[in-house]
Amino acid sequence: MYGLVYHGNKNVRLENLPEPEPDKNEVKIKIDFCGICATDIEEYAFGPKFISFDKPHPLTQSKVPLIIGHEITGTIVSLGANVTNVKTGTKIVLDGTISCMKCNQCNSGKPTQCHLLGTIGFSQNGGLAEYLTWPAAKIIEIPPEVSSKEAALTEPTSVAHHAIQQGEISSNETIVILGAGTIGLLSLQIAKSIGSKVVAIDQNKMKLEMAKKLGADEIIDSSKENVSESLQKLTVSGADVVIDTAGGIETSIQATEWVRSGGRVVLVAIYTSTPKYDFNTIVAKEIQVLGSLGYNINDVKAAINLIAQKKVLTKPLISEIIGIDKVLSYGYPKMLAESKDIFRILVDPSKY
Ligand SMILES: [Zn+2]
Ligand SMILES: [Zn+2]
Repeated sequence: MYGLVYHGNKNVRLENLPEPEPDKNEVKIKIDFCGICATDIEEYAFGPKFISFDKPHPLTQSKVPLIIGHEITGTIVSLGANVTNVKTGTKIVLDGTISCMKCNQCNSGKPTQCHLLGTIGFSQNGGLAEYLTWPAAKIIEIPPEVSSKEAALTEPTSVAHHAIQQGEISSNETIVILGAGTIGLLSLQIAKSIGSKVVAIDQNKMKLEMAKKLGADEIIDSSKENVSESLQKLTVSGADVVIDTAGGIETSIQATEWVRSGGRVVLVAIYTSTPKYDFNTIVAKEIQVLGSLGYNINDVKAAINLIAQKKVLTKPLISEIIGIDKVLSYGYPKMLAESKDIFRILVDPSKY
């Protein structure tokens, strides 16, 4: 089979690899689609950051070279000897979180806070390949009314759901979302499904138009408007919650400026630069700043249900589907382009 293998900074190669076979508690999955995520691009262009590079991950014993890809949907093609909870032929998504299952955080249902946290495509082989093996306990069936294509964005929807949970967002609150990219637009739809009022901010016209189409109550073009003034008109005292999905140099600071006193800021971006920050803003406004990394299995189940109920629409966010041989020559350059005019590119690993 073909797989895309991370070797190091700007060194990802398409390789012909042996098909993996499941151990007794695993299933073998034929990958239908795997999305290319901004985190993959950051790992490629600025990494290694999260990928197990110098030493093996303590739970998986895997390290680079590793098959990348973590936004996965597929079909079960064979079962390990002990697997009884799923059947072959089933369309699935998966919980790609790797955690120790023993520590206090894992035992309290917070595997993202595990001291040994890892993830598929970073700590173990991922989904940019024709086949993958994964523990049967972390497999979630796709409801019959959801297509593989729609389900392909379950992972980023889970990430957005986790951010909304971290922010303890409720109805009647005003949520400001910085960045109307994939995570921003998925967060927007989840916040709307709760009954919140949502303001989306970006400087890209195409993304703002999509935000409006997907239910944003207000959009603000930060390249044209004075955002502070526009927000003051809309919220008077500031947003109840600001979610930073953009991860720009200024956006983390702006998030704390645009939230009301006593409000919450959720940071769900990976930052590639370090801003200088005055913590007195946090003190004086008594705000909470919350990190959000990845998701847990409950977020995955909630995400696929939101997609099945059409409360989250994923199809508008699929810009293109390409073969695995086009990822390096076409997909990565598109994702790295300065004026990124796409949301998600899906890869069909059986096409090359
Ligand atoms: Zn991702
Ligand atoms: Zn743990």
